[in-house]
Amino acid sequence: MQPIQLFDPASSTYTYVIFDETTREAVIVDPVDEQLERDLGTLRQYGLKLLWTVETHAHADHITSAGLLAEHTGAQTAAPQACGITTAAMQLVDGDELRFGSEVIKALHTPGHTAGSMSFLWRDHVLTGDSLLVNGCGRTDFQSGSAEDMYHSLTQVLFKLADTTTVWPGHDYQGRTHSTIGSERVGNPRLAGKSVDAFKAIMAALHLPKPRRIDEAVPANLTSGVRHDADGMDAHTVRPAPGYAGDISPALACAWWQAGEAVLVDVRTDAEREWVGFIPGAVALAWKQWPGMAMNPAFDEEILEAGPKGSKLVMLCRSGVRSIAAAKRATELGLQAYNILEGFEGDPDAQAHRGKKGGWRLQGLPWRQG
Ligand code: FE
Repeated sequence: MQPIQLFDPASSTYTYVIFDETTREAVIVDPVDEQLERDLGTLRQYGLKLLWTVETHAHADHITSAGLLAEHTGAQTAAPQACGITTAAMQLVDGDELRFGSEVIKALHTPGHTAGSMSFLWRDHVLTGDSLLVNGCGRTDFQSGSAEDMYHSLTQVLFKLADTTTVWPGHDYQGRTHSTIGSERVGNPRLAGKSVDAFKAIMAALHLPKPRRIDEAVPANLTSGVRHDADGMDAHTVRPAPGYAGDISPALACAWWQAGEAVLVDVRTDAEREWVGFIPGAVALAWKQWPGMAMNPAFDEEILEAGPKGSKLVMLCRSGVRSIAAAKRATELGLQAYNILEGFEGDPDAQAHRGKKGGWRLQGLPWRQG
């Protein structure tokens, strides 16, 4: 059995899905935001229940879909502790194990590309992120990278694995899909027979351009690819967003809705409304829930009924993630759809750690117990 290897051509990123054949429980490693639909499709195709999204590091070249996948599938997010991805539910340290069914992946701290970078060992396979690449390795010249640490991680951690271990890299720019520890140990041109000083000289001479998306990608990846917060937004600002009309505060959404200028659409599930609370007068229309929850194939039809073309929709979910997906879909259908930042409950973590205002309920807007 091998990991399912998926490729994002825009960033040459490999994403991996590994699962237990009996329980169908799965993990996904290094998912890419633009490939969310593909990855949900893969999970569906194999009949998998996603338990974990896992990052090898905070990426500079693409944005993770970890937060979105968590919202869609109920998976938990995991990331290396030393990467500062504060939204990840599980902060991994060296030797930690993630279990799914009777399978397990083990975290190996392999700093060098970034200080927090990890590789993940599963059976006789290792997912090496941007540490070991086929015939190469990740760059070490930014984001707390260190050529010395990289040399140590490769020679003292990864090359100590069995030679037959299959290497699955985080990127490849030449169509190569995998390698083995044995062939990299013997033949990797940056490492084979090279001293640490020779390796450092090779890395220092690379002079690579700055990644195109680094300024956007790194901050986004430190929050699992999702921006929950309404930071710096006054209550009456619309913040433009790609793929839909924009982000607005719960207060502005409520004002538009009460003035009859917008339809309020609650995209949470019936169960969530019953458990947590509901907003009298809001249109209840669950965003397509999957897997393990009731699917709502009639979403398109019902959203067009709720907000005929030309009308303004404000979309609400638990914490402001599903509502983005729903707003994007409504926009594709020709509607003017806004996302309500922080949703009904807000991000409790963000409130605790960063003094955020919280969502609809915490701001004292109208709602009732289910
Ligand atoms: Fe990277």
